[in-house]
Amino acid sequence: MSPRGITVLGATGSVGASTLDLIKRAPANWKVEALTAHRDVAGLASAARAVGAALAVVADETCYAALKDALAGSGIEVAAGASALCDAARRPAEVVLSAIVGAAGLPPTLAAVERGATLAIANKETLVCAGDLVRAAAKASGSVLLPVDSEHNAIFQVFDHARPERVTRVILTASGGPFRTASIETMRAATPQQACNHPVWSMGAKISVDSATLMNKGLELIEAHHLFPVTADQLEVIVHPQSVVHSFVEYIDGSMLAQLGSPDMRTPIAYCLAWPERMATPSARLDLAAVARLEFEAPDFERFPALGLAWAALRTGGSAPAVLNAANEVAVAGFLAGQIGFLDIAAIVADTLDCLEAAPIASLDEVVAIDARARIEATRLMAERMR
Ligand code: NDP
Repeated sequence: MSPRGITVLGATGSVGASTLDLIKRAPANWKVEALTAHRDVAGLASAARAVGAALAVVADETCYAALKDALAGSGIEVAAGASALCDAARRPAEVVLSAIVGAAGLPPTLAAVERGATLAIANKETLVCAGDLVRAAAKASGSVLLPVDSEHNAIFQVFDHARPERVTRVILTASGGPFRTASIETMRAATPQQACNHPVWSMGAKISVDSATLMNKGLELIEAHHLFPVTADQLEVIVHPQSVVHSFVEYIDGSMLAQLGSPDMRTPIAYCLAWPERMATPSARLDLAAVARLEFEAPDFERFPALGLAWAALRTGGSAPAVLNAANEVAVAGFLAGQIGFLDIAAIVADTLDCLEAAPIASLDEVVAIDARARIEATRLMAERMR
């Protein structure tokens, strides 16, 4: 079998590293076309050398010279800048794994979809901001979208794609994050370090904070709506602290199907890399006797208002999810920088949504414009809270 071409967008992050780990375990199966990063020159150069990538791209143009130096003599092509990210996505790799964090991932992800690549998508913010555009582009090009997010990957594995009308509910599981049982006072005083200290998953800083506010689950509701033919009314969230049941699909006869596995992103990533086959992974096997019991509880919308905000944005549609996402990115960055408190995150998102009336979105330019407006508004609202 000849090796499959793959490009990894966001190769230096948590999902990127898990993906490269799988590639390195079976190097003969892969021809790495391009790897990208934002500013982590050392991480990108070392990853590109380790897997023999043809091209390495940094989004930040000021890092170009450093990357060129770091890869001197390797024969690996080097590029920098936002348009170079899209060019990387357009190179003829059969699979593109999209693992950039935030809406910054949208243009290259869309570029990969437009050329008909098989898209393994972890970058949920892209689907939240522009799910309709991505789906339409995939339909036009024949691109297959494979969800990397563990919940959506679970749903994908048990969803009856040929007979979606038999599905009654899709239930996303949520770990509950580090503040599942915390009081509102504890959450008000929470530090970035506490918020990033996820009880189960090891992830990048932004998604860790999103998991702590439950905004992550809110973004995933919107993501699920774009990945599967289900309405907002068919989606539910259940808190499941053990994080071994990765989501449920319920059918008209009352049957519920679920996918289980240890909380290791290499399992859903491997599913996407091997699809429609399966491949071996080093992920720990689930020891059900050791897990002993599976707990479930309803989410608390009072302590975690971000979840309700995301649900409302999903129902409103149009630009609302993009505004929600942009405001959240600004507020999470502010929280991580120590500028605002943990509870301010959802408050800033709510205020930004109140300020910007939802409008239809029909193009990438419109998404980029509303994203920029929402960031300006959220930054202004954040400055008010910092006074
Ligand atoms: P990380 O923060 O660990 O990594 C993010 C990656 O994106 C890095 O390669 C980073 O480069 C790059 N990047 C950041 N900003 C930009 C930018 N402006 N332009 C181009 N590239 C950029 O994130 P994660 O791996 O945790 O998450 C990635 C995505 O996957 C997110 O959308 C997240 O929600 C989703 N996801 C993550 C899971 C996880 O387990 N981590 C699980 C499910 C979904 P650099 O290193 O140079 O900064």
